[in-house]
Amino acid sequence: MNHKIYPVTEVGKVTGAFTHFSDPGAGIRTLSTDSRKLADMDHAVFFALAGRRDGHQFIPEVYQAGVRNFIVSAYDRDLDRYPGANFLVVPDTLKALQALAAHHRSQFSFPVIAITGSNGKTVVKEWLYQLLAPEYHVIRSPKSYNSQIGVPLSVWEMNESHTLAIFETGISRTGEMEALREVIQPTIGILTNIGEAHQSGFSSREEKIAEKLRLFKQTGLFIYAPFYLENYIGEIPGERRFTWSRHGHADLEVVDDEILEDKYQFLRGRFGAEEVQCLVPFMDAASVENVICCWATLLALGYDPEVADDRLEKLQPVRMRLELKNGINNCSVIDDSYSLDTSSLAIALDFLKQQNQHPKRTLILSDLPGTGPQDDLYEQVASLLGNKFVDRLIGVGPVIGTHHDKFKMQAQFFDSTEELLDNLGNLKLVSETILLKGARIFGFERISKALTQKVHETILEINLNALEFNLNFYRSQLRPGVGIMAVVKAFSYGSGSFEIANLLQFNKVDYLAVAFADEGVALRKAGITLPIMVMSADAGSLDTLIAHGLEPEVYSSRILEELITVLSQKKTEKYPVHIKLDTGMHRLGFMPAEVGGMLELLRNAPSVKVKSAFSHLVSSEDAADDAFTSHQAALFSELTATMEETLGYSFLRHLSNTSGVTRHPSAQFDMVRLGIGLYGIDTAFKTRSPLQTAVVLKTSISQVKILEPGETVGYNRRGVLPHGGKIATVKIGYADGYDRRLGNGAGKMSINGYLVPTIGNICMDMCMLDVTGTNAREGDEVIVFDEEIRIEEMARQLGTIPYEILTGVSQRVKRVYFYE
Ligand SMILES: *Cc1c(COP(=O)(O)O)cnc(C)c1O
Repeated sequence: MNHKIYPVTEVGKVTGAFTHFSDPGAGIRTLSTDSRKLADMDHAVFFALAGRRDGHQFIPEVYQAGVRNFIVSAYDRDLDRYPGANFLVVPDTLKALQALAAHHRSQFSFPVIAITGSNGKTVVKEWLYQLLAPEYHVIRSPKSYNSQIGVPLSVWEMNESHTLAIFETGISRTGEMEALREVIQPTIGILTNIGEAHQSGFSSREEKIAEKLRLFKQTGLFIYAPFYLENYIGEIPGERRFTWSRHGHADLEVVDDEILEDKYQFLRGRFGAEEVQCLVPFMDAASVENVICCWATLLALGYDPEVADDRLEKLQPVRMRLELKNGINNCSVIDDSYSLDTSSLAIALDFLKQQNQHPKRTLILSDLPGTGPQDDLYEQVASLLGNKFVDRLIGVGPVIGTHHDKFKMQAQFFDSTEELLDNLGNLKLVSETILLKGARIFGFERISKALTQKVHETILEINLNALEFNLNFYRSQLRPGVGIMAVVKAFSYGSGSFEIANLLQFNKVDYLAVAFADEGVALRKAGITLPIMVMSADAGSLDTLIAHGLEPEVYSSRILEELITVLSQKKTEKYPVHIKLDTGMHRLGFMPAEVGGMLELLRNAPSVKVKSAFSHLVSSEDAADDAFTSHQAALFSELTATMEETLGYSFLRHLSNTSGVTRHPSAQFDMVRLGIGLYGIDTAFKTRSPLQTAVVLKTSISQVKILEPGETVGYNRRGVLPHGGKIATVKIGYADGYDRRLGNGAGKMSINGYLVPTIGNICMDMCMLDVTGTNAREGDEVIVFDEEIRIEEMARQLGTIPYEILTGVSQRVKRVYFYE
């Protein structure tokens, strides 16, 4: 491995730690902050960070996995429990992480570019990487690692072989930037832009700008657009400054833009006395702005304008996400072929490890970019694969095969992507999870195409990061010790099954709940080991339940008696059951008067044990019914107290659903049942929801037509165009779940940023949009709902609730998952 190894004693000094060494000779080269993502055990140090979950809690698990160095802020004085371990005790483990990264950064004297801004940071970083790669060996932040933790981890990856670094930073409140500046110590600064949106972490726009500019305090060169700093009265950093503008005087002034061939943007500008130009393969406003920022950077760095033009024209779109799709032969395919280096490989492998639906995991990996002797590099790759449970490796490229002896798993090698494609049939890829990870020049998208099922072009995209974010949001609302049961009934509210459950399991929720036994069985088959509650269990499914370790909800004496009979025949003892109490919903559950009889049955039945008792709130989102909610909570409290007293043991109690969590903190009891909130919908938030949108429904345009005045569109001539216009036919209809009542202008979709209405009646498999005045073309992507076109609003329009819209997206619409 190329990375420098620091003696643990030096790490102790740099972090100012009080040290407890059992092995003072240890060396450190890998930083670890997540117990689920460990690697390079011999040289790793684990930082017990205080976060949503206190990192100290994971020390035994991390020690068990083989890590021996720990940076902690509190420690167990019983060090005998950790033979051979080093403990470095510091007041603040995050500060220690940052100090260590800053120390590492100081070892290098090549240029370091830091990027910040409200939008476009990651794209500008990736594009600069593409633009500068011919001259430099660039180290850059993986994906969008730009936080207080992400930045030090990115900087730590710098090594002797690099000649340029590009790091991005993101902050959410005052006081954070100085820490990042000390870690990055940038020599060149780039501000992409400043968004208008008011951010809660800052008291004013002025303060937000001042905080962002702090990053560039000591840079030799600062590149920015003065437009974003208009009216800013503070000092503008940078020994030297390079400005760009589309509206006035600057070092690079863009004076004109023009769309060519419907796919290029031709930009003309002035650079000092020179006329400059560039042709870029993007048309949307955000991309063009990011391009100009990159253009300015190239010129500021002294590149010839013609070279700049040449390179900008070849920019590739940035795709920063892993996509999980259904593959052929019952495989799942994780597609991540946008870039390849060891840090993005490690991230992709973590995701592979998280998906348990198939017992076998295969990695298709190309040569890693780079030149010179690469023993260390492939050594590092092999150790990553070993640690992350890859069963089979398929290597592609002239180099990787020469390192075959380093890979301990089943392995095969091909010289080129073409050769692999020719042999695809012989590889026998069946019922496994396949990770595709290739450098861009290998064109792995061709393999992806060959391995994935053809998708009907209407897809429901599920953003797993957003789901994780929302889970963490609700976690932060819980009182200490309160657990989470994630409700994944109805294919996780229409968004998938094992893909979501695997993510939830990885994120350590405590329980899952499904509606029917079949759903639970499918999850068990996909490797879900979490306890699972089945809400509609009946006598017919009891055998299946027991065979798969699923736990039934018991809502009546009849069900309880049947269950006891089956379990006693099987001589089972203490089978976990969940008692449903009816506190006001009047759907399923024991009425208060029936509790006595239920307890009588339970007391005489050693075959079952109450694992939990629960009830359901009827109106948790609605303030008008708060009195009734309180009444439900009080009744629930009373009934469960009686149960515990009679049974002589305690069990978990849970009452709240999504909206109950934030609106009724006192009703959290021992656990909450979280459903729709995971997908970013919680009607308790009337405005300004803190959640992220996790599901986006998309389709595409099949045909565009220009119509004369007076012509009509669709069945029964309901769509009328008195002045003529342009219409687009898109591949979604009521059979896909797009409600027919959204026809004739009621529904809106968005194309290239234009919000356009439906026209005419919605058909079964398609519908038409009025795209007059827009640049809509055949093949363009069409957004049906997302964070702008909100499901809540559609539901309101249709007189229904978001739950129905979500679960109404038909199963023929393919689900695609992604993870950034
Ligand atoms: C569906 C369901 C939930 C989840 O409700 P959300 O409002 O989606 O959070 C919780 N409990 C029960 C019994 C349910 O049926």
